[in-house]
Amino acid sequence: MKSAPASRISLAEVSRTTGALMRRGEPSPLAQTDHPRLADLTECLFFSPGDGRIWLNDQRMVLMHTSALGTLRRELIDSVGLERARGLLTRSGYKSGARDAQLVRQRWPDADPLSTFMAGPRLHALEGVVKVEPVEFEFDVERGTYHGEFLWHHSSEDDEHIEAYGIGTEPACWTQLGYAMGYVTGMLGMPVIFREVECRSTGASICRVIGKTADAWGDVSEDLRYLNAQEFLSPQAFGAAKTVSIPAVLGGAASPSDEDAASEHGMVGVSSAFKSACHMLSRVAPTRATVLFTGESGVGKELFASMLHRISARKEQPFVALNCAAMPETLMETELFGVERGAYTGAVASRAGRFERAHGGTLFLDEIGTLSLVGQGKLLRALQEGEIERVGGSRPIKVDVRVVAATNVDLQAEVQAGRFREDLYFRLAVFPIHLPPLRERREDIPLLMNFFMHRYARLHGRQVRGYTARAVKTLLNYDFPGNIRELQNLVERGVISADDDGVIDVAHLLRREQVQGATYSLDAAGALADGEAQVEAPAPPASDALLDRLCEPGERSLSLAAIERRLMDEAVARAGGNLSAAARMLGLTRAQLAYRLKAGS
Ligand code: ZN
Repeated sequence: MKSAPASRISLAEVSRTTGALMRRGEPSPLAQTDHPRLADLTECLFFSPGDGRIWLNDQRMVLMHTSALGTLRRELIDSVGLERARGLLTRSGYKSGARDAQLVRQRWPDADPLSTFMAGPRLHALEGVVKVEPVEFEFDVERGTYHGEFLWHHSSEDDEHIEAYGIGTEPACWTQLGYAMGYVTGMLGMPVIFREVECRSTGASICRVIGKTADAWGDVSEDLRYLNAQEFLSPQAFGAAKTVSIPAVLGGAASPSDEDAASEHGMVGVSSAFKSACHMLSRVAPTRATVLFTGESGVGKELFASMLHRISARKEQPFVALNCAAMPETLMETELFGVERGAYTGAVASRAGRFERAHGGTLFLDEIGTLSLVGQGKLLRALQEGEIERVGGSRPIKVDVRVVAATNVDLQAEVQAGRFREDLYFRLAVFPIHLPPLRERREDIPLLMNFFMHRYARLHGRQVRGYTARAVKTLLNYDFPGNIRELQNLVERGVISADDDGVIDVAHLLRREQVQGATYSLDAAGALADGEAQVEAPAPPASDALLDRLCEPGERSLSLAAIERRLMDEAVARAGGNLSAAARMLGLTRAQLAYRLKAGS
């Protein structure tokens, strides 16, 4: 983390600012430059109902009934006992807090420490968990000290605990405590332990928590027990220590260098669709089996094929790729199998084909569906016999080649249509791996955005600080007909178009007509409003009240003067600037309109 000046605020200062910080819709008392403000954080939360996803910036969220969480909590306690349940819930809360700390650090890397520390309680409240009221807190990022005391109002966890077990003797806000530890630890970069010294579950009217560094507490062995100390002390547990690019999970067989290679080549993802493809890849790579990759254009079939080679026993041998669609039919045969001198006019020298060049290694045939029936016959023979014949040659040549093919068409349908040999199809499709389109693995979009942004910033020598919330929202909601290749191109364009040392916005990525789908964010009053970046605004709920129709969604009131001003502006705009025509629309004379426009400006 960037070194930051010591920051302390007194009790009086905090209580002066607290109410305002927590009140919805009010501008933060911190300076306008002190991001993230509450509005910045609410902007990160958006709903994509058509797609079945809710996002907090790049993290997928779910909206759960607290009663469902209560049931889960109760069954957990009843089945594994109070102690273990407490540990599980504390660690799950810790994970949320650490993820939120990571979000804040990534989106606002240069924010002042006070704002970033305050963003935790705000996010915790925004997520509907608990209202946090700071009593006092003091920290020094450079020296690694922290002391904080907070009140928790109407904790959702207590509601559920009291509902199930009534008032007891032990505090019960375990998940929330975990969150506080995860967040502050992630921010400070060293363990901070929170304890709940008063709790509604023990009959108090409010919960009170105190956080200090492990050193300052003294004996924290019990606290660490709930955090699973071993994991807790590893650097990864701090969440923030690591950036967002989680290397591709290549199953158990992958070595760290494979993972590095994978992430270096853009094979990054966390989605189950991506992981399942990686898992299959790691299973089949060490074998000799022919592999067929299927999936739309741009999903990364060549990337997977070369990764398969890289983690196979043939990795020291050549990897040769040929795109069958890019090669004219007449050249295909010589390209694949080579040619003997004098085979035809122009064949002035003998030349080895791709099969021979791939000897001992892997031959990747992309867009195999475009291969002619003649070419298919020869390929089948090469696969069956393990030997090829050059064009114009008379002796068979032994080749040891593992063939990996890819197609973006349905080969089975091609077989049905008589355009693809069935025997070749079965030969190739020994082990098919389907690569999902990007729109079906949206969870990977943030990783890929981050990955490509860094890659192209390096390549083009640009400084780019990230994406606006609007850009993130738009890309997460975009369908990517061109898949990863399209995302890659968009990000490259974004890196080039954005101001140096600036952030990438929607306009740097997509043309307006490309922006698609509806997303909804929270407006300043906490109501859902359609995102700015969308094209089709959803119809507002029908209302007969004129006032409702005049107010913007989320706007609670509008002054008469503002309504008048807007009506005049709209009329003038609709009339194309013709004041007489605009005045007629409003039942005014031209002079009246001109006067009012002047008076109002
Ligand atoms: Zn409590």
